[in-house]
Amino acid sequence: MCEIVARKWDGIRKMACAAICLLVVTACERAPEPPTGPNVLLITLDTTRADRLSCYGYLERTSENLDRLAEQGVLFTRAITQAAVTPVSHASILTGQNPYTHGLRVMHGLTENRLRESCVTLAEVLRDAGYHCAAFVSAFPVSERFGVHQGFETFDADFILDSPAKIVSPAGVVNTSMNQRRADATTDRALAHLAACREPFFLWLHYFDPHDLKLRPPRAFLMEHARSAASAREQLRAMYDVEIRYMDQQIGRVFEHLEQSGRLDDTLIVVVADHGEGLGDHDWWTHGILYQEQIHAPLIFRGPSVPAGKKVDYLARTIDIMPTVLELAGLKRERFPPMEGHSLVPLWRDGATDPEYVAYADSINMLTYRTPVGSSDEKNDMLFGVIDGAWKYIHHALRPEESELYNLEDDPLELTNLRDAYPNQVTRLLTDLRSRNCIPKKPLGREQMSEDDLRRLRSLGYVP
Ligand SMILES: [Zn+2]
Repeated sequence: MCEIVARKWDGIRKMACAAICLLVVTACERAPEPPTGPNVLLITLDTTRADRLSCYGYLERTSENLDRLAEQGVLFTRAITQAAVTPVSHASILTGQNPYTHGLRVMHGLTENRLRESCVTLAEVLRDAGYHCAAFVSAFPVSERFGVHQGFETFDADFILDSPAKIVSPAGVVNTSMNQRRADATTDRALAHLAACREPFFLWLHYFDPHDLKLRPPRAFLMEHARSAASAREQLRAMYDVEIRYMDQQIGRVFEHLEQSGRLDDTLIVVVADHGEGLGDHDWWTHGILYQEQIHAPLIFRGPSVPAGKKVDYLARTIDIMPTVLELAGLKRERFPPMEGHSLVPLWRDGATDPEYVAYADSINMLTYRTPVGSSDEKNDMLFGVIDGAWKYIHHALRPEESELYNLEDDPLELTNLRDAYPNQVTRLLTDLRSRNCIPKKPLGREQMSEDDLRRLRSLGYVP
C-alpha cells in the first residue's frame, strides 16, 4: 500500500472511530433515565401583580385557590421576573437564562424576537428524561411564533386563527389583543388532556385573562363579583381584580381534577407570573417597564418534597424555576443544561442562609402601537435593571441622566430617586450591568438587518 493510500485509510479509520464514539456518546446522552420523578405542572399567570393576590396580602380575596396552594407549599415573597414583556419573560422561565443569554429580547421588533433553537428548554430536558410534555397557552405572545414551544409534544394554541403576518404588523408590532382565549377555554382543553395523558407529565398552562379588558369573565361571574367604583380608574382596577379572581377559579378546577384523580400529591405545582401591571402606578397603565409592580412576581411551589406553609423572604428570580424543577424532578446534575438560575430548594430548608442572589430585568423596544420600529418612547425604552439586596438601579440607556436608584427596604413604592445621593451604589450596580454585556450595541430594529434576513422575512410576509 502506498503511503498516500495508507494515510487516507488511517484518516478514514480515525473518522469511523470518531463517528462510532459520537454515536455511543449521543446514544448515552439521549438514553432517558427511567422517569421516577413527580408530575410537573407549571402555571404562568400573565400580567398578574403579586400585590393583587390575597396570599401576598391583598385585602380583597382574589385568589382563593392560589392562597390554599401557598398554605400547602412555599411562597417566595421577593421573586423578580427577568422582563415585563410576555415572550421575553416566558423564555427566561422556560430556559433558566437571562434575556441577554437566551436571546429572545423583544416582542415588538424584527430581530431577536424568537427563542433560538440552540436554547435548551425545561420541556426538552424533561422530555429527554421520559416526561410527556404538553402546553396549553392562551395568547399569541407565547405561541410557536416566539419559539417557546420547543420540547412540547402537544402545544395547544388552536385558538390562533390569524396568520402571524396578520397579527404582527410589517413594522414588527404585535397586536396582543388578537387571538387570545379565556381561562375556561384553556382549562377545558387542559382537563381533557389530563384525563388521558401518560405519566409522568409536564404540563404548562398559561392564562391571559388579567392582560386584556376584552377578555372578560362570563356574565354570571361578573354579576356576582364585579363591584362598582367611584371613578373610571377605580373601575378598571376593580375589573382587573375580577379577572384575577376568575382565572383563579379556573385554576381551582385543575387542582380539583388532580385531587379527584389521585394525582395532586404526586404533582409538583409551580405558579408564577410573567410580569405585573401598572394599573396607574408610576403613571403607567400596562406593563413593559421595570418598577416593582411590574417585575415583582408571585412565585409558589407545592408538591412532594416541598414543605407546607413556608414563606421565603430571600430574593429569588424566575430563572431559578427551571433548576428548581429539575432538582425536584430528581434529575442528576450532569443532565442539567447550562443555566444562570440556581435551585431554590436550599432556600426553603431549615437553617437556610441568604444566597444573596442578584436579579436582572430589562425592557427593550417598548413600542406603542403608534410608533414604528426604530423609533420608540425613549423615556421607557432600553431599560436595564438590577436588584442587589435593598438596592435597585434602573439604567436608561437612551437617557442615562434619567436613570433611577431606589432603596426597596426604605421605599418599596419607588417614589424617591436616590441616584444623585448615592453615586457609589450607582457605580457598583452599573458595573454589574456592564459586566453582563446586556445592553445591545445597536437598536434592535430594522436598520440592523441584513438584506438576506430582510429577504427571508419578506418571503414569510413579515416585511412588505
Ligand atoms: Zn405577559
